[in-house]
Amino acid sequence: MPVTGTDIWYYYICPREVWMMKHQIAPDQEDEALDIGRFISETYYQRNKKEISIGNIVVDRIRKEDGQLVIGEVKKSSRYLKSAKMQLLYYLDTLREMGIDAKGELLFPEERKKETVEWTEEAKQELKQAVADIRRIARMPVPPSPKKISFCAKCAYREYCWAEE
Ligand code: SF4
Repeated sequence: MPVTGTDIWYYYICPREVWMMKHQIAPDQEDEALDIGRFISETYYQRNKKEISIGNIVVDRIRKEDGQLVIGEVKKSSRYLKSAKMQLLYYLDTLREMGIDAKGELLFPEERKKETVEWTEEAKQELKQAVADIRRIARMPVPPSPKKISFCAKCAYREYCWAEE
């Protein structure tokens, strides 16, 4: 079962959301949080943007710096930094398996912030565990129970989890 960078991002936020996506349960398309995310990734850094696909992975930006490939991900907030870092590391690891040594950068246009991310062996081991766990979650016949976290307030699945509240 293919695991995408988006799966990795959500895994570090909420395993239940991973299950929803893997079971192709459509989120609320009218959700404001989704619209804002789309707006930011489509509007900022447009000048340098060269979205590319690597297998199941889509990278927001790609450029060269001093001869080295730099891939970038645009995020609307650094609040979920762990998720953003692991997603980017997943891309770096995929490139590495293709023989491409790249570094990453996370871009937070609303905060005018940028963070460099570099592949390490420890990160690779953590990713391997995350991928195995995502596959385990996806095979579950029912989703993991909802757990109230701050992300729920902006999650497109909140109607599924907390409709009665
Ligand atoms: S609403 Fe909360 S518990 Fe439900 S999928 Fe979203 S983040 Fe997870």
